[in-house]
Amino acid sequence: MNFLEKYREDFAEYDAMERDFIDEDRIWEQLRKWENPGPAAVRRVLDKAARRERLEPEEMAVLIQNQDPDSITEMFELAHRLKREVYGDRIVFFAPLYISNRCANNCVYCGFRSSNHGIRRHTLSMEDIVREVRIMTNEGQKRTVLVYGESPETDIDYICESIRQVYGVKLKHGEIRRANINCAPLTRDELRRLKECGIGTFQVFQETYHRETYQRLHPAGTIKSHFRWRLYAHDRALDAGVDDVGIGALFGLYDWRFEAMGLLYHTIHLEEKYNGVGPHTISFPRIEPAFETPYAQHPEYAVSDADFKKLVAILRLSVPYTGLILTAREKPEVRRAVIPFGVSQIDAGSRIGVGGYQESLANQLPDKEQFQLGDTRSLDEVIRETCGKSIPSLCTACYRKGRTGEHFMGVAKSSFVHHFCIPNAILTFKEYLMDYASPETRAAGEPVIQKYVAEIEDETTKQFVEQALTRYEAGERDIYL
Ligand code: SAM
Ligand code: SF4
Repeated sequence: MNFLEKYREDFAEYDAMERDFIDEDRIWEQLRKWENPGPAAVRRVLDKAARRERLEPEEMAVLIQNQDPDSITEMFELAHRLKREVYGDRIVFFAPLYISNRCANNCVYCGFRSSNHGIRRHTLSMEDIVREVRIMTNEGQKRTVLVYGESPETDIDYICESIRQVYGVKLKHGEIRRANINCAPLTRDELRRLKECGIGTFQVFQETYHRETYQRLHPAGTIKSHFRWRLYAHDRALDAGVDDVGIGALFGLYDWRFEAMGLLYHTIHLEEKYNGVGPHTISFPRIEPAFETPYAQHPEYAVSDADFKKLVAILRLSVPYTGLILTAREKPEVRRAVIPFGVSQIDAGSRIGVGGYQESLANQLPDKEQFQLGDTRSLDEVIRETCGKSIPSLCTACYRKGRTGEHFMGVAKSSFVHHFCIPNAILTFKEYLMDYASPETRAAGEPVIQKYVAEIEDETTKQFVEQALTRYEAGERDIYL
């Protein structure tokens, strides 16, 4: 059977729908209505955001269109405050593992697209995967996202086997404890199989919520050209029992203001349909240059650094309980500037060439990479830098304790996340310092551990952490709340 044919019947469900949850006219109407919001409207929205209530699209439009420097500064401060209140003062680290760059789609902005004949194609064998994971684990990684192209070679059997291989690698000091997945939209049956393999978050980025742009950049005749098959990928995942789903848009394909509204509409759609369970994470990658990919050199709607900063803060205020992921696509200076406004997860030490962990240092496999990384520093370096500002975390406890989906939302919304997150950050950071850190990072990190232990208010929690730290000194590992 032809690859596309395989999905024909599944597409029918969406072809039959009269409308979906992206109403373009309405989005533009809302953005136009608030073209020049007065101070009273901005005040109202900032006050609502301060109460940590999820904003409505019109309210997001007010923040997007606001040009008043004073209230923009206030918005940044509020975003910083909310991030600390909801997620605690910590940053979660992960690294991607690129599994295959073979792809039957032809997304014009992507180095993996089928018409890119310059790229060296490669799909990792199971032995390759084990080798990559061993290197990542020896660098101290505990969380990964597995990234796949869309091709018959990486079908669901292959994906499931690759996940099993990742979880099967157990080294002296550690292992990958959470494998998230970023792959093509799947059927419910396929998603049930992913759940059985114990995946963390299932991520699919819509790329653009603007239909005409979507059709133009994802040529007809490919699976990816089906806008709604992708738009409802997370619904199918939740139907199949995958609790944590991640949405995203690729910024630079269309007007950033429209895409931000699209992300909010997507969030609201999931919350309304799935009992308050919105996306676990939102990603907002900007297009980066890619090997022999002219479009990515000059994206039509390139987002400036200033607008990017606004975007992050606006997302933080609009969806206070959703994790925000900032990747190493961005340069270190951009990362430093936007992390305080609401980012909860970053990757570091990432190598995005297929086979990149074994083969090279970052950025040296351009003809095997999807795009060019902006931040090629090692995990150790980024963790060291983070020490001055917050506490690095490699925690995977919520997922392993079953605090996912609806349950996670309950925990997050009652603002108890930092009661779990900070203690677990301390413990995973301590593991990192003991087993993987350079002497400089260890020196920078120990006072951070002391500081955050001292700040734990609840006596029982504090005792648990102190005892766990003593057990770590005695050789135990992987203790969590
Ligand atoms: N192939 C699957 C898909 O397209 O959904 C999953 C993996 S794809 C490799 C992951 C994401 O990378 C895409 O969803 C897209 O948003 C992003 N991406 C593609 N080309 C990019 C570029 N030139 N710069 C930055 N991000 C890019
Ligand atoms: Fe393939 Fe994904 Fe790249 Fe599109 S973005 S060409 S689907 S790897």
